[in-house]
Amino acid sequence: MNAEVIAVGSELLLGQITNSNARFLSEKMTGLGINVYYHTTVGDNRERLTEAIRVASGRADLVIMTGGLGPTKDDLTKETLAEYLDKELVIHGQTLDVITRFFEKRRQPMTANNKKQAQVIKGSHVFKNNHGLACGMVTDTTPSFLLLPGPPKEMYPMVEEEVIPYLAGKGGSGVEITSRVLRFFGIGESALADMFDDLIENQENPTIAPLASGGEVTLRLTAKGASLSNKKALDELESTILSSVNDFFYGYGNDPLSKVAAEKLKSSNMTIASAESLTGGLFGEWMTEHSGASSFYNGGVICYDAKVKQNVLNVKEETVRNYGTVSAECAEELAVNVKAVLGSDIGISFTGVAGPYSLENKEPGIVFLGISTPSGTKSYPLNLAGSRAQIRERAAMYGCFYLLRE
Ligand code: ATP
Ligand code: MG
Repeated sequence: MNAEVIAVGSELLLGQITNSNARFLSEKMTGLGINVYYHTTVGDNRERLTEAIRVASGRADLVIMTGGLGPTKDDLTKETLAEYLDKELVIHGQTLDVITRFFEKRRQPMTANNKKQAQVIKGSHVFKNNHGLACGMVTDTTPSFLLLPGPPKEMYPMVEEEVIPYLAGKGGSGVEITSRVLRFFGIGESALADMFDDLIENQENPTIAPLASGGEVTLRLTAKGASLSNKKALDELESTILSSVNDFFYGYGNDPLSKVAAEKLKSSNMTIASAESLTGGLFGEWMTEHSGASSFYNGGVICYDAKVKQNVLNVKEETVRNYGTVSAECAEELAVNVKAVLGSDIGISFTGVAGPYSLENKEPGIVFLGISTPSGTKSYPLNLAGSRAQIRERAAMYGCFYLLRE
């Protein structure tokens, strides 16, 4: 069974609102094992709407239309579709009752327009609207047309409470779709995709979809079938993938690196303190974003100037003189000393050149990360690319990544 979504509304085409309804509907249909092949957006215009309906009818089993079910002149989804299908619009008694009561309660007169909202395409199965006046419906035609209101606060609950149970009982394929997201850091999307070129090219079931955002790359693995066989297929694919890129893998699901690192610290019963030069407190912000941070994050020092590194965090004068502040030596001293000064189990430090200008003869992107734990102190040299903001952010992300590797 395949579906397509037609979002109706000129505001969508004018760029005034985002078509989030299409995303929501695709997600829900995919969950039912219904493939969504197209998203169309069309304005409140009778001819173009008819054209969109005609095109969709030729290729989909289920056409889902959202928007344009309201009482005003520009709401013409139902009327246009009824005309296209050559079906009558008839009053739906229960919906009319709901609308009538709504106006009585508010002591407002009910207009002919409002009555229009109680009309349905003859032969349809009606979905009631618990959060507004326009009812939804699915026609008895082939393909079938599912009409839903535009406002998300009306449409989402209607889909969850009424449409999904209806489709699951009727048209749903009975096949389950299971997804698993693997998260990677320190490897680019194209490098990752290249490694699995063959797998991605020849994929049918399960499928692999790479996605890069904010310096992290995810692979979404999706299997279709009975739920036990899905799990087995995903386990196998996952171990094939991780056998070649395990070094960059750090977790599953939707949580970003910073959250995974914070959670690991929280559950390890260790405390951490940070000495941040180029990152200016970014790492500390990430650690304190979530509640319960005080159980693992002692605090941090923003040691931007060399004097702060020396006077507050006791970096030796000769370290600065011999190696500079952007050095492995300085990063290690900062990590060890911040741990001592703030009384934590782990110290982490970030020192480097965020750019756009060089510093101490080092190019933007040269960063040293220090990590000091009860079992020893290490530093990691990084050579990061990008803007000042990206270099700062990537540096803090590498801090999280290496903490996870500890
Ligand atoms: P109403 O009775 O409110 O007129 P309607 O079913 O006629 O509802 P529209 O007039 O098309 O729906 O849209 C009403 C509002 O719903 C829009 O202003 C917008 O805020 C929201 N909306 C409509 N379509 C979408 C969409 N595709 N994605 C996100 N929001 C939408
Ligand atoms: Mg409207």
